[in-house]
Order: sequence, then C-alpha cells, then structure tokens
Amino acid sequence: MKYSAAQILWQGLTGNKGWKPAWRDPAPKPSYRVVIIGGGGHGLSTAYYLSNEFGITDVAVLEKGWLGSGNIGRNTTIIRSNYLLEGNQPFYELSMKLWEGLEQSFNYNAMVSQRGVLNLCHSDGQRDAYARRGNAMILSGADAELLDAAGVRALCPFLEFENARFPIKGGLLQRRGGTARHDAVAWGYARGADRRGVDIIQNCEVTGFDIENGTVKGVQTSRGAIKADIVVCCAAGSSSRVLSLAGLRLPIESHVLQAFVSEGLKPTIPGVITFGAGHFYISQSDKGGLVFGGDIDGYNSYAQRGNLPVVEDVCEGAMAVMPMIGRARVLRNWGGVMDMSMDGSPFIDRTPVDNLIFNGGWCYGGFKATPASGFCTAHLVATGNPHPTATAYRLDRFRRGAPIDEKGAGAQPNLH
Ligand SMILES: Cc1cc2nc3c(=O)[nH]c(=O)nc-3n(C[C@H](O)[C@H](O)[C@H](O)COP(=O)(O)OP(=O)(O)OC[C@H]3O[C@@H](n4cnc5c(N)ncnc54)[C@H](O)[C@@H]3O)c2cc1C
Repeated sequence: MKYSAAQILWQGLTGNKGWKPAWRDPAPKPSYRVVIIGGGGHGLSTAYYLSNEFGITDVAVLEKGWLGSGNIGRNTTIIRSNYLLEGNQPFYELSMKLWEGLEQSFNYNAMVSQRGVLNLCHSDGQRDAYARRGNAMILSGADAELLDAAGVRALCPFLEFENARFPIKGGLLQRRGGTARHDAVAWGYARGADRRGVDIIQNCEVTGFDIENGTVKGVQTSRGAIKADIVVCCAAGSSSRVLSLAGLRLPIESHVLQAFVSEGLKPTIPGVITFGAGHFYISQSDKGGLVFGGDIDGYNSYAQRGNLPVVEDVCEGAMAVMPMIGRARVLRNWGGVMDMSMDGSPFIDRTPVDNLIFNGGWCYGGFKATPASGFCTAHLVATGNPHPTATAYRLDRFRRGAPIDEKGAGAQPNLH
C-alpha cells in the first residue's frame, strides 16, 4: 500500500478500515542469503538498501525485542554533517544527502526537518577551531556558516549573552542540519524493506553463531537455527556481547546516555543548539517539548536508564546557556546503551570470521548516520568492497595507528 494524500482522503471517507499493517510478521525461514542481527536503525536501513538499491531480497532482520526498542527510538533526533576529519566528513555528508530524499524514497513521513544546527563557541580558540571545521565541511560539499555574537543573538535572543564565565562569541551554523522523528525512521525503513520481501522478525534473539573452519554459516536464535551466507551484526550497544558469541573482542565499551523532554511549550527554539563550554544540546519537538541531553553517565553498563549526577550536570549546562529553561518542567527521561569506540568513530568492516560483517561503534552520533551506515554496509555486503566514503571505518585501525579521533580526546571511550 502506497501512502499518499489521496489515500488519506479515501481512507478517511471510508471509515479508515482499509489500512494494512506496515510490515508482515513472518516466521523465520531455515536459511537466508543475508541475516542481519538487530532491528534498530542501522540493521533496518542495511536491509532497506540491500533490497532497494542492490537487489538482494533474501534477507532477514532478527530483532530480540520490538522495532524501535533500542537507541533508534531513544535518541535526541539530531541530524547533521558538521565533522572535521577526512575519514568522517564525506560519510556524514552522504548521510545528510540521503536524509534529504529519504521520505520520498521510502514513502513514509519521518518528519525530517532541516531547522539548522548551531554550535556555540565561547572563546577565541574555539571560534578558530569552528572556522577550520566549517572550511572542512564546505570542502566536502556540506554547508557551514560562521556567525559572530550578533548573528547568534539575532537567531536566538533568549540565550545568556551576559555570562562572564561562558561568553557567547559566535557559533558554527549548519542550516541543512536539524531533526527527524526517530521511531518513524525505523518504521519507514522496515516498511520499505518488507515491501521488497525482507523478513523482519521481532522477538528473535541471536544466542550463538555457527562457525565452521573460520567461516560463519548461520546463527542460533531463540526461535531456532537459521543458516546464512552472510551475517551482519548491527547490535549497537550490545555489539560486544553479541560478537563475543563468535569469539571476537571489540574495541568498544558500552555506556549509558540519557535524554530528557520537558512539558510542551509554545514554539521557542528555532533549531538545534549546542553549548560549547560543557556538554548540552537542545531542540524543540513539533509537540512543543524541549528535547535535550548531555554527557554519557561515564561508567560501563547495559542498563537502559541512567543516574542522577548526569541529570544535575545536564541541567547545569542548560541553566548556564539558557536560563529561561529553569521554569520548564521535565516530564520524561530515559537512557540508551551506547557502543562507545576508543576514538569516537564507527566501524563498517569485515571481521576475522569470514562472511561475518560488523557495523557498530556509533557512540552517541549514530542516528544521523543511519542512512549512510545502511547504504555503506549494504554496499560492502553486495560488492565485497567498502563504500568510498567508509574506507576509514576499519576494525584494525588502532593496530595500524590510524584512529579517527574527531574530538582529539585520545583512547578514552567515555570522553568522546
Ligand atoms: C539518549 C540518546 C540520545 C542520542 N542522541 C543522538 C542524536 O541526537 N543524534 C545522533 O546522531 N545519535 C544520537 N544517539 C545515538 C544513536 O541513537 C545510536 O548511535 C544509533 O541509534 C545506534 O544504531 P541503531 O539504531 O542500529 O541501534 P539500536 O536501535 O539500539 O539497534 C540495535 C538493536 O539490536 C538489538 N539486539 C541486541 N542484541 C541482539 C541479539 N542478541 N539478537 C537480536 N537483536 C539484538 C537491540 O534490541 C536493538 O534493537 C543517541 C542515543 C541515545 C541513547
């Protein structure tokens, strides 16, 4: 069923009785050409591009819970391509371009909203660093504008400009950045893959791998054994646990990241704003809630909930840059499990086990990467070669001394 304005009108006039489920609920088959572990954004987008761009439809996505139960349904919805390093910027710009055509491509309203992403700077050195980053973005075909304090004030008059400790000196603005409705992205990709014949199997946990002579032959699941020519692991925060079942140890730690939503307010915040002197980012949802977050909790955990010290830290960051927020009430908060890599950058690569491919290490930036991640992983599966924009995302980069350390924080997963 194709969604359109005419369809909405027709269904409205006929009692809304003709809508079909957005995807089937198939039982797992004994074997597939490709099995994808994890029905989050990256697993579903990989299935979507495999089936829609590369013509590979004999695919199953195995999800241990329900679609959207992981980070794809828990993030603060920010999309952007404002990266500095050569290994990252073209990849994230590819993702931005895919976001721009996504809703037409998978015929689903994902509320992609290019309302702009503004990174505030608070010192001369930080402004110089943003100028450098903006130039790198422009060189890879992205958009970037360096604003002075007056430019920021014109856009966001409600910010704290008189704070002597964190003076706002300007900001780096990417107007094409913005937000998208996170769970609709999962549903849109699921529906688009299902339409091409991909089996999306929920409540199916992968519990082991069948490996013969160093080659993966299939997976063991809570719903029986499934054979596969190629297995792709897209388990995000559970990557280390899942691939340990194949005897692999990853350069990844799992950490909790929390998100917060306030009561609904009248339209106040024009786009996404990030505080440059601490870790705080905020946008406003179409329902009016302020959606914000900050640092990870800073300890290893697989819990999908966080602790109070970070709540305090996030609120302090908010008050330092936007004191008016002190009058809003927080309605909800939750946590997700982040696959924090050692250099803050992801992996899309083969593993030492033949025909077992790994997609992970997304830290807390994997939502914006969802389209390019799926596209590049599908490219690797279908052609056997990494996509040109993802050649740096190799598992052996630490051994080769080639980390992609966007923040310059060193081998500290809790600092990226
Ligand atoms: C609070 C928060 C805020 C964030 N904000 C942003 C943001 O603003 N912008 C941004 O770009 N990124 C953001 N992120 C990061 C982003 O959400 C993640 O990097 C990204 O969603 C991870 O990829 P995914 O969608 O595939 O993960 P997930 O949705 O977590 O998918 C992985 C799936 O694997 C499944 N799984 C695990 N083990 C098994 C198994 N054994 N068998 C079968 N299935 C299994 C899980 O159930 C899960 O559904 C944020 C994350 C959080 C938690």
